[in-house]
Amino acid sequence: MADRLSPGGDTAAGGDTAAGGDKPSGLSTSIDAAIIAVGSELLTPHKTDTNSLFISQVLNDLGIAVACKTIVGDRRAELTSHIAHALDRHRILILTGGLGPTDDDLTREVVAAHLGLPMDEDPAIVAAMERRFAARGWKMPAVNRRQALVPRGATVLANPNGTAPGLWIEHGASVIALLPGPPREMKPMMDGDVRARLAPLAGHVRLHRRLVRVSGRGESAVEEMVQPIYSGWLNQAPPIETTILAGLGQVELHLLLQSSDAVQAAAALEAAVNQLTPVLGPDLVSIDGRELEAVVGDLLRGRGWRVALAESCTGGLATSRLTDVPGSSDYVERSVVAYSNEAKIELLGVDAALVTAHGAVSEPVAAAMASGIRDRARVNVGIGITGIAGPGGGSEHKPVGTVCIAVAGRETRVRSYRFPGGREMVKALSANTAIDMLRRFLIEG
Ligand code: AMP
Ligand code: MG
Repeated sequence: MADRLSPGGDTAAGGDTAAGGDKPSGLSTSIDAAIIAVGSELLTPHKTDTNSLFISQVLNDLGIAVACKTIVGDRRAELTSHIAHALDRHRILILTGGLGPTDDDLTREVVAAHLGLPMDEDPAIVAAMERRFAARGWKMPAVNRRQALVPRGATVLANPNGTAPGLWIEHGASVIALLPGPPREMKPMMDGDVRARLAPLAGHVRLHRRLVRVSGRGESAVEEMVQPIYSGWLNQAPPIETTILAGLGQVELHLLLQSSDAVQAAAALEAAVNQLTPVLGPDLVSIDGRELEAVVGDLLRGRGWRVALAESCTGGLATSRLTDVPGSSDYVERSVVAYSNEAKIELLGVDAALVTAHGAVSEPVAAAMASGIRDRARVNVGIGITGIAGPGGGSEHKPVGTVCIAVAGRETRVRSYRFPGGREMVKALSANTAIDMLRRFLIEG
């Protein structure tokens, strides 16, 4: 069995890929895992499966990708079919939950039955459980004996934090770990014994990731632009998997590559993201995962510029994001939350006549806020944000979500937006857009 469990298993380019290896790619020794969380309570609105997150973390650390995870209730037929499905497709199966002493705890016996393994009572487990109960002055209930049943050939994983031991089963080319449900029992077992036993399977393969951030376009527009490029990455050696995620005002591209050669992996990812640069143009925020506000910070610092902000409907949110970046005192000079018309006039020098003529939410007022704070703070660039976050205050002409944003350097740029969503989302989108307008101003101006 040992050779069947060597790194890479039956994948073509498996084997020893240490120190770069001598394979053409040296990279495709990927093995992946399935996770099954067992427990009917996890299918209710009251209880979340958090164990699979921790298990994924350990697997990813080892270079093992999670191909799928499933939550199954305490039902024999359901559990059997999911176990069969997982073992059909994946080399590693981690189960958590359902190892307790009660009738609804089925994991142990369903796995054994599926693999055709008889179960034997392990006297050492019985003795350990009896000691555990005795230490509290209790007698062990008879039902606990079922926690001492071990599928023949399985290795028992000690559980210092509870009664249910874990189990490690090697069956054909598959490895199966059964872990307790309570997180305080599962975590040390996954991070200890199971990690140590999985490490030789994973070999030197590690997961390498790259995060690309895009702004100013929706998920489907970004998909349309980049799909012709990333679809090719799947066929190259090593293949790169791409996931597109929509966030507030931003789209993220996650690139994932499994490789035993860190240098080669970094070069492959670098070549891939460089293909995106000309296609995405100014919509590309970063190819190295840097947050928008950090990118803007670097641009400001590179020019030796400082910025000041005048925020109305965002209540300081844009400044908050800019100042989330350590060292932002190098380039953030000040910020004023000018919520009322009086504040805009008194603190920013906005002409009262502008407010009367165009309303507080208007491009001329946003522009006057931006140039007002720029001049009063004596900085290179000012930002003005004024809008209607809702739910009240909208009109037919200026509905909720109408936001005017200005960036005033030597010239002033101003734009009006109609943001969707409720108050919180309008504020978040406004702050994001203001920072992104500043970024575009800095790269184009
Ligand atoms: P069990 O081993 O199935 O008897 O699970 C015992 C307890 O562990 C459950 O009542 C839950 O509170 C907790 N638990 C089980 N599975 C999970 C999971 N996937 N994520 C978080 N907690 C869990
Ligand atoms: Mg349970």
